[in-house]
Amino acid sequence: MARALVQPVSQLVDPDHEPGELALRYGAGRPCLDLVLTVGERWRRSFERLRTPEDLAAWLVGAKLAPEPPAVTRRDLEAARELREAIFRIARAAMDRRPANPANLSQVNAWAARPDAVPQLAGIGRATRVPPRGPVTAALATVARDAVDLFGSPLSARVHECAAPDCSGIFLDASRAGGRRWCSMARCGNRTKVAAHRSRRSGPSSHPDPMRTATPVPTTRRNPT
Ligand SMILES: [Zn+2]
Repeated sequence: MARALVQPVSQLVDPDHEPGELALRYGAGRPCLDLVLTVGERWRRSFERLRTPEDLAAWLVGAKLAPEPPAVTRRDLEAARELREAIFRIARAAMDRRPANPANLSQVNAWAARPDAVPQLAGIGRATRVPPRGPVTAALATVARDAVDLFGSPLSARVHECAAPDCSGIFLDASRAGGRRWCSMARCGNRTKVAAHRSRRSGPSSHPDPMRTATPVPTTRRNPT
């Protein structure tokens, strides 16, 4: 179910957004891939979940990259989005088994070269990590280093797109058997199985797959840029 599509991320507030669509999602298996999950439906509406600096602050906390919401500037937000898109394009190249764009590699490498939070001893049995500069810079450096670690290793072959027809989530299959198909079993795995079960029970001709009916997916593939 690879949908090799790269579209501009829309910042528009879509009145058709369903409740929860803009909620931040995690569980892709790596922080760098969780950052990629902050764009929804990349092959269709391609909508932004990091709409405000506060969204990025909340994402950093949810990704366990900050203990509490840091002060985030508009510039931080733009930087996070640019890093995210570079990571996404590298992931797309990895999934398509083609070389990554050197410009995208440079973007990730530049962030990976910035200072990460350093470990500090707060007392016996208490360690903490302190960002040498701003906490957002350190967090994005951590995300970039995670991308270097992931896509610079054989694990890059284990990065896949969710098998749900209406999901563009990308995840790392860290299972021993290598059979993970969904970005999230709770979200995409279960509802896809329920939809398939309903489809089987009602027969192929009387009721088509409700998921595909509700959310048609274009059959044309577009070349990534
Ligand atoms: Zn999914």
